[in-house]
Amino acid sequence: MNLSDHLPQLTEDQIAQLNTLTDLFLETNKQINLSSIRDRDGVLIKHVVDSLLILPYLKLKAKDKVLDVGTGGGFPGLALAIVYPEVHFTLLDATQKKINAVQAMSDSLGLKNMETEWDRAEELAHEGDFRHQFDLVISRALAHFGTNLELCMPFVRPGGKFFAYQGPEMAEKWMNYNDMAKKLGGKLISCHNTVLPVEEAKRCFIEVEQTTACINSFPRPTSQIRKRPLEPETY
Ligand code: SAH
Repeated sequence: MNLSDHLPQLTEDQIAQLNTLTDLFLETNKQINLSSIRDRDGVLIKHVVDSLLILPYLKLKAKDKVLDVGTGGGFPGLALAIVYPEVHFTLLDATQKKINAVQAMSDSLGLKNMETEWDRAEELAHEGDFRHQFDLVISRALAHFGTNLELCMPFVRPGGKFFAYQGPEMAEKWMNYNDMAKKLGGKLISCHNTVLPVEEAKRCFIEVEQTTACINSFPRPTSQIRKRPLEPETY
């Protein structure tokens, strides 16, 4: 699998760094469980290329601040930090050993434009240094879409965006979440449908704009989010 075949817009240096990231991830994944994908081509396609399927939809500029909520083993945050050296990334996860592993991979790659945070999103989102501080918030495989909205929107500055990596089932359902987005101060903008090249698996990116500040009661405490998720059927 040749990364540059799928990502012709990247420089040779970026392709080399993404290959190094893949090697680091494969090694780290032998020591702590970051992903069930353990072969090189699998990581390249299902983590690296999949993370970067979002590139055509992003309009980032130098000094923008991006937050990856529930980064797990570092996807999509690490791959995007390699592609956008002028943008600042914060990678957040609730699991300390994953965050330590992501920080170690970032150190090995020498990435100067990213930092890691070990916390729960619903707690960190109430801290002044984080609430409404990001131009762009992203999440991949974090939770159901309603919970993704609740956990991520309060981090977005008014005028900024949240992009959720979602499976193809959301292509038909995303508009049902308009009331949920509104409740959080946001507005659904679009659902971008795309396809992962190798297995032709369908993906979509739901684009949400934060139009005003989110009311202080969101995100709710963990127990309430679990008991009564922000889903059209339950809320
Ligand atoms: N984004 C990665 C990992 C997905 S697994 C990928 O696509 O491969 C989901 C991750 O979200 C887990 O690592 C879990 O620890 C984290 N997570 C789940 N709920 C969270 C919360 N409320 N706050 C922060 N991290 C959370």
